[in-house]
Amino acid sequence: MNATPPSDRAERLLWLGIETSCDETGVAVVEERSGRIRGIGALLTSQVNRHRPFGGIVPELAVREHARNLPLLVPQLLARLGLSPLDLGGIAVTEGPGLASSLLIGNAYARAMGASLGLPVFGVNHLEGHLFSPFLEGSEPIPFPFLGLVASGGHTLLAAVEGWNRYRILSSTSDDAAGEALDKIARLLGLPYPGGPEIERLASQGDPKAFCFPRGFPETGDLRFSFSGVKTAVRYFLEQHSERRADPHFLSSVAASLQDSVVRTLCEKALWAASKGGFRTLAAAGGVLANRRLREMLEAGCSDAGLSCRIAPPALCTDNAVMIASAAALKSAAGIPPSLSQDIDPGLPLAV
Ligand code: AMP
Ligand code: MG
Repeated sequence: MNATPPSDRAERLLWLGIETSCDETGVAVVEERSGRIRGIGALLTSQVNRHRPFGGIVPELAVREHARNLPLLVPQLLARLGLSPLDLGGIAVTEGPGLASSLLIGNAYARAMGASLGLPVFGVNHLEGHLFSPFLEGSEPIPFPFLGLVASGGHTLLAAVEGWNRYRILSSTSDDAAGEALDKIARLLGLPYPGGPEIERLASQGDPKAFCFPRGFPETGDLRFSFSGVKTAVRYFLEQHSERRADPHFLSSVAASLQDSVVRTLCEKALWAASKGGFRTLAAAGGVLANRRLREMLEAGCSDAGLSCRIAPPALCTDNAVMIASAAALKSAAGIPPSLSQDIDPGLPLAV
């Protein structure tokens, strides 16, 4: 792509997105033109191989990786797109929630770049990035109000999204996030980190009805999530059947059954909340939504209930910078000035 011609600049705004809230270093450029968003290019460096030997994310390692990768990725992406930093109209950076030290790297870099180029730097709530990622591929206006489901490594929540900056949390998890529980259960099964995709792979060979693992707050109408019960149940179950661990069919059926417990819980609570709240659209995102069984179950459930189902494309489900740049660009196009990034907030809530 060529650098933006000056005559084009008034209507075409390029946003650089930076995401470093956890263990992915993401950079992206999105274009906003007359209210429409288009991803121009993105780079993502996963740290999975660095953290895998420890079975989870080591914050100290994550910081060093972000500090090493980010100053390489930004110039690399701009060069690949044939852009100069001066072609950018703004920088959007995740300000929270996330790991404090990881957030600091992205923010420090964004603010230094903004100061040196005279560019505004906008802070984006990571959860807001996830919430709006199901709408990035369509050119239709966002159908407010909608019900948002976010299920990731750090969060599991249902939110009524009534408009820009008008978010009402309807439910969140009382203990583990869905992805966190899958990661921990994967360890019990001897699978590497991150566990969600590994469990999905193993589950594809197994019988989801073979075993019955508990579901948190299973009563209809109870929107609360809880995933620590299934984790504990799998732990005791594996201890009680230790002699069967060598049987691959046993392990794959354990994976399929526990995946079914997690996926059904997410799906049923989301559909119930949608029907109770009179929503017409369910939008879902976050790393766990990369799971094919969950996607199929949500799509089928929405179709039965007459709901429009929007799920982020699998590549945009896990953490990425496209969703961060897009959230800032969409808000700005809607006339909502994104907040200027002042500082990070590791516990930044979605709604206050
Ligand atoms: P995020 O926090 O949004 O980056 O998502 C990462 C989380 O999503 C981790 O807990 C992963 O185990 C989980 N995850 C990623 N892919 C899948 C999948 N295919 N099935 C279930 N969970 C997944
Ligand atoms: Mg996330």
